[in-house]
Amino acid sequence: MKRKFCTIGKVVLGPGYPVAVQTMLKTEYRRVSLLTREIRAIKKAGCEILRMAVEKKEDSEFVGFVKEKSGLPLEADIHFDWRLALLAIKEGADGVRLNPMNIKSMRKVREIAKRAKAKNVSIRVGINSGGFRKAYKPQQLARLMVEKVTDYVEALEKEEFFNLMLSFKAADIPTTLAANRQARKIFPYPLHIGITATGPQQEGLIKSSIGLGILLREGIGETLRVSLNAPAWQEVEVAKVILQSLGQRQFLPEVISCPTCSRCKVDLRREVERFKKRLRSLSLNGQAKTLKFALMGCVVNGPGEASQADLGLAFGWRQAAVFEKGKVICRWPARDSIEKFLVLIKERYGEKKN
Ligand code: SF4
Repeated sequence: MKRKFCTIGKVVLGPGYPVAVQTMLKTEYRRVSLLTREIRAIKKAGCEILRMAVEKKEDSEFVGFVKEKSGLPLEADIHFDWRLALLAIKEGADGVRLNPMNIKSMRKVREIAKRAKAKNVSIRVGINSGGFRKAYKPQQLARLMVEKVTDYVEALEKEEFFNLMLSFKAADIPTTLAANRQARKIFPYPLHIGITATGPQQEGLIKSSIGLGILLREGIGETLRVSLNAPAWQEVEVAKVILQSLGQRQFLPEVISCPTCSRCKVDLRREVERFKKRLRSLSLNGQAKTLKFALMGCVVNGPGEASQADLGLAFGWRQAAVFEKGKVICRWPARDSIEKFLVLIKERYGEKKN
């Protein structure tokens, strides 16, 4: 089957294109300064597609504002009231998400498709397992989800609408895997992957990493949203870590640190957080994205344990050893070693200004 592409704003999803990172606004739109702050944080984190719920007419009035502030392709998330999709398109949304469990009239779907086509807007047919009331086994539920989406896709194709992406989300990993694997076999369209209603933050992180990691490793998923009970910018950061860990994208240098033990000479967790934050603010060249920097808790084992790091710092009582590929190259007073380490990184990998 020849796989198709979906274009949302300036982002293309499909074979040969990078898996795009997305998240969803969580602030109430009327709280404009909070909304602006949220958009800024999402953008800074590196989001590539943004989604906003359009639950009522007044929400659609913020479509233009969000688009302008974010500069990102914007998908309007529509449930129940199909007319909101038309409004969102009119206000400039780049994509609309329709839920086949609550917008059922094919006449209305066709109407949305006509307007979307005229404005070059993409449609995501996004189904969630929560829409099914009865308890099913994962494979069974996955089949039902795929069937529902098939009806929708056929109606859209009859309108000659092909700028489509699809999503099949469940709160559990087995159903999510089954539905996406079935969908990949049947549909040529890009898949937006995610696990929904993941629970508390830590559980959400684990579930998303496992579920999305498996799918991405199988080549399934052209865009992902990590749903977390956490700020949206954190969803973006986690999605980037998942993609980078799988070797599918390179966003930032990797920071390695040891788990610490009784040999540890510093508050390593604090030092790592401080370092990560400062590292993000450096303007580094393209090569730096592929590098590994290590912060280790002791000089005795640190350089050896992190010998895969391009550059590292291992803390002693008073001194910190700087090492390159496992070999100590110099020592600095521990107190200002992080600052010096950042200077060294900048000297070696800083973006050259013309
Ligand atoms: S590097 Fe040192 S402090 Fe860290 S875990 Fe290994 S032995 Fe412990």
